[in-house]
Amino acid sequence: MKKICFASNNTKKLEEIRAALSGKMDIISLSELGCTEELAETGDTLYDNAFQKARYVFDRYGVDCFADDTGLEVAALDGAPGVYSGRFAGEPRSDQRNVDLLLHKMAGIPNREASFRTVIALILKGKEYAFEGKVDGVIVHERVGDKGFGYDPVFQPTGFKATFAELTMEEKNQISHRGRAVAKLVHFLLTADF
Ligand code: IMP
Repeated sequence: MKKICFASNNTKKLEEIRAALSGKMDIISLSELGCTEELAETGDTLYDNAFQKARYVFDRYGVDCFADDTGLEVAALDGAPGVYSGRFAGEPRSDQRNVDLLLHKMAGIPNREASFRTVIALILKGKEYAFEGKVDGVIVHERVGDKGFGYDPVFQPTGFKATFAELTMEEKNQISHRGRAVAKLVHFLLTADF
């Protein structure tokens, strides 16, 4: 089976991506490569951050790999937190504090439109490729649901009465930003000659 490293130690994301590949490819995590450090993400765009992480792993370990970066873009906040979604409420990163801050900033704001956007940077045999996925929705007024991670409890995708945190992983994968980017990546990988 073909092997590729996903430059992440986020177990939820690894689970999501392994499920999307349904055993058609072997996904190796960063820690399985022997890398336990947190990879730097100091770029100004999701593309910069995704490629920063993928290039680091490729340069250091010489393996085919991909990395992702995700941002939550809220219309009423001029696209914030965007590329800063992970450290919206500062360091150390905390989903709990990020969501609290988002709900605080959105209090009393009627326009709740938001989107999640994911960029996946792939380095395969030294060549670089990028895949993007996006999902539109709204920020709800309080946390609902206990599945998923990050901003899932406060994001309700368009066409659904439930937040991401109320959907099963399979349901979320079918419509989510990362699910859509991963579908493009998987299609590419399964048809690529490597
Ligand atoms: P990263 O690009 O995975 O580091 O994610 C940046 C920020 O977006 C972090 O705060 C994550 O918790 C959040 N995030 C990433 N993916 C998702 C998701 O699928 N649902 C909810 N939050 C997410």
